Amino acid sequence: MKEEEKTTERINRPETLMMSLGYKPHLSEGALKCPIFQTSTFVFKSAEEGKHFFEMIYSKEGKKETENMGLIYTRINNPDIEILENRIAIWDEGEDCAVFESGMAAISTSLLEFLRPNDVVLTSSPIYGGTNHFMKEILPKFNIHTLTFNHNDDEQQILNLLQRHNAVKKIKSIYIETPANPTNSLIDIQLCKRVAEILSKEVGEKVWVMVDNTYLGPLWQHPLKHGADLVLYSATKYIGGHSDVVAGAAVGSAMLSFNVVGGEKEAFTFLNALQVVKLAVSLGGTETLAQHPNTMTHADVPAEEKLREGITSKMIRLSVGIEAVEDIIYDVKQALDKIK
Ligand SMILES: *Cc1c(COP(=O)(O)O)cnc(C)c1O
Repeated sequence: MKEEEKTTERINRPETLMMSLGYKPHLSEGALKCPIFQTSTFVFKSAEEGKHFFEMIYSKEGKKETENMGLIYTRINNPDIEILENRIAIWDEGEDCAVFESGMAAISTSLLEFLRPNDVVLTSSPIYGGTNHFMKEILPKFNIHTLTFNHNDDEQQILNLLQRHNAVKKIKSIYIETPANPTNSLIDIQLCKRVAEILSKEVGEKVWVMVDNTYLGPLWQHPLKHGADLVLYSATKYIGGHSDVVAGAAVGSAMLSFNVVGGEKEAFTFLNALQVVKLAVSLGGTETLAQHPNTMTHADVPAEEKLREGITSKMIRLSVGIEAVEDIIYDVKQALDKIK
C-alpha cells in the first residue's frame, strides 16, 4: 500500500475524527477545544449577507454544497450543534445528521415529516413507551394509525397481516426498534427493507425504513448498512453517556453514484436528457437530484485526489427523492439510452 493511501485510511477513523471534525481552531482564537457558543443569534457582516443566508435556507434547492451556510440563529444552526451533527453522522456513515432537543423530538419530527393523514405506519413490538404513546395517542389525531408486527414474524406473515387489515397500499413507513426496549428483541432490518421495497411498488412511492438505534448506539450497529433510510437516537442514553443531557438525533442517507460509459460528453448527455430528475447540486431533499461531481460540487478538489477517490468525468451523483420509484427508474433509463 502506498504511504499516501495509508494516511488517508488513518485520518478517516471515527475515533480520530471525533477530536477535530468540523472544528477550526483559527475561527475561535486558537482554542484547542470548541468553545460553547452560548448565543441565540449571530451578527451578519452586512445586510446583503443576511439576505443571502436566508435565501439559502428557504430556497427549495437548499444550499449549494460549495457554499458555506452562514450562522443565523441557534435553532437553525450553531457551531456546536453542527460539529455534533457531523460527528454523529460519521459513525453510521450517513450523509447528514440533525440533532434534536430529545430522542422523542427526533422520533416525532421524523414520523410527522414522512406520514400524512390516512397513512399507516408498520411498527415492531415492543417499542419505547414514549414512542408507543406518540403513535397510539398523538398520531391518530392526525388520522395516522399503526399496525404492529411480531418480532419473529417472517416476510410472508407481515404481508399477510397487512392484507388482513387492508393496509398494503397505506403503509408509508416501517418503524422499528432493535434491540427493543426493554426486551432486547431483535428485528431483522434487511427483512424490513425487503418488505418496504415490496410495499413501495404497491404504494407507488418510497416506503421509509426508520430504526431507533438507541439501544446499541452508533458504535455497535449501523442500520443504514442493512438498508434503513433513517436512524434515530435518544442521545440522552449512550451517546451522552453521563446522564447529564437530554438530546436526540436523526441520521440519513439514500445517495448513490455511478459511472456512465464514456466521459464528460456522455455524462452531460445523460444529465441533459433527464426529465423527472432535476439537474442540481445539493442532496437529501424530497426531489431527486443529479449532478456531475467532477465539474460541479468537486470541481475545486485537486485532480490527483479526485482520481484516488474515483471521482472521474464519467461519474454521476444521484440524490434519490420521494417521487414514484418507477418514474425515477424510467427517467434514468431513458436518459442512459440517449448515450450512444
Ligand atoms: C429513551 C429512549 C427514547 C426517548 O429519548 P428521550 O431522549 O428520552 O426523548 C427513545 N427510544 C429509546 C429506545 C429510548 O431508550
